[in-house]
Amino acid sequence: MATKTKQPIRKGPGRPKGSGQSPPDFVNVEPSRCKRCGSTRRSDYYGKTEQAHRGEYNGRPYTHIVRRRTKCVDCGQLRIDRFYENRSDRDRPRVSVSSG
Ligand SMILES: [Zn+2]
Repeated sequence: MATKTKQPIRKGPGRPKGSGQSPPDFVNVEPSRCKRCGSTRRSDYYGKTEQAHRGEYNGRPYTHIVRRRTKCVDCGQLRIDRFYENRSDRDRPRVSVSSG
């Protein structure tokens, strides 16, 4: 005699089909700060530029450098905040450069 272990039939509402992901983590990114006065108060970002460039920053590989311009609200110094992003190749949308 074999004791069958029955698979539980779905009970009530669960997570939607196909999403085997756990809820997202929160990761804190420290605010950039002014080199002149040390303030973190800044204007809104503007003039964002992106550069595909591979390298390593603080021991972490990156694939893109994103630069955003801003201005220190306290001393008025302009600065460019650099963000080093390590993006997946797989998620990259295909850019079709009119071929044909
Ligand atoms: Zn400043």
